[in-house]
Amino acid sequence: MLSDRMKKLKPYVPGEQPRDQRYLKLNTNENAYPPSSRVETLLRDFDIEQLRRYPDPASKRLRRKIAERYHVRMENVFVSNGSDEVLSFAFYAFFDNTKGTLLIPEFTYSFYPVYCDFYGIECRKVPLSSDFLVDIDALLTAKGSSGIIFPNPNAPTGVSLPRDRIAYLLDNYPSDRAVVIDEAYIDFGGQSAIPLIQDYRNLLIVNTFSKSMSLAGIRLGFAIGDEGLIDALFRVKDSFNSYPVDTLAQLIGETAISDEAYYRSVREKIIAARRYFAAGLEGLGWKVLPSDANFLFAGKEGIPGEEIYQKLRQRGILVRHFNIEGIRAFVRITIGTMEEMDRVLAEVNKIF
Ligand code: PMP
Repeated sequence: MLSDRMKKLKPYVPGEQPRDQRYLKLNTNENAYPPSSRVETLLRDFDIEQLRRYPDPASKRLRRKIAERYHVRMENVFVSNGSDEVLSFAFYAFFDNTKGTLLIPEFTYSFYPVYCDFYGIECRKVPLSSDFLVDIDALLTAKGSSGIIFPNPNAPTGVSLPRDRIAYLLDNYPSDRAVVIDEAYIDFGGQSAIPLIQDYRNLLIVNTFSKSMSLAGIRLGFAIGDEGLIDALFRVKDSFNSYPVDTLAQLIGETAISDEAYYRSVREKIIAARRYFAAGLEGLGWKVLPSDANFLFAGKEGIPGEEIYQKLRQRGILVRHFNIEGIRAFVRITIGTMEEMDRVLAEVNKIF
């Protein structure tokens, strides 16, 4: 009954989502603040009659709003059911084994190898540089690559590259191979590469409403790139699911993206809490990687990351640990409110 294909799958394991409120939940990089109050008004006034119809399969109004915000055209924008799904379509559309192997950083978003297995794409892990940066020179010197994907800022490290490094990569990489930059965390201090899409037709930027727009619960992600790349993503979507983005998600996305002032203030609060928390941990002798994301990758010499994770968990604080050679000493801690980070610092001080 079960297909061979299915039996061979190695699914991604998402962070825990406990449904009780016992934990201070800092393990899946959700936003510490609620969505814009305009979303609440929208939901309160929503006419359920609208749900009788299918949604717009091309999400045109939402794509137009995203295009306005990023100063591109609607034809440069694709949306789907969370950026995980956008990424999955991008893997299908742009990467195969005919030109070589896909390059990903050694430590990166662990869904990428899962998509590679799913689609039968060969991939190669390229080590980070000694300061945990995505190593552009190493990506460029790797022979026989079919494309490149990495997050900027990278996950789970939080370390980011400036736009000119991405431009340098594109200047020196074959223009017939796709470069996908996953900017899920870009709004927390990184430099977006979106302005480069005009000059590089092989560049696709992927982003999400889950993090900086506090909307992980509605599952909305998008991609921005040359029209040719966006058309390819539509071909994949329309061979898989005509309506991946439901009516409510489209409306909520349109509404949220129009409230720039609110989200700017949220970002500023998170960046301030990150600085405060990083300084606090360093003051306690921890090693903290420089982060431009809404999380920190940190550890304390002599204490295994697993132990940090377990002890914090016993104290009601949930963080993420990756049991992977090379980064075992670290835990990834989502940045919450200032008060929440104060609580973590107090517990860290007591426990360790
Ligand atoms: N990219 C990266 C780097 C992430 O960490 C995540 C969140 N797990 C995603 C993409 C997917 O986010 P979503 O599907 O919620 O848009």
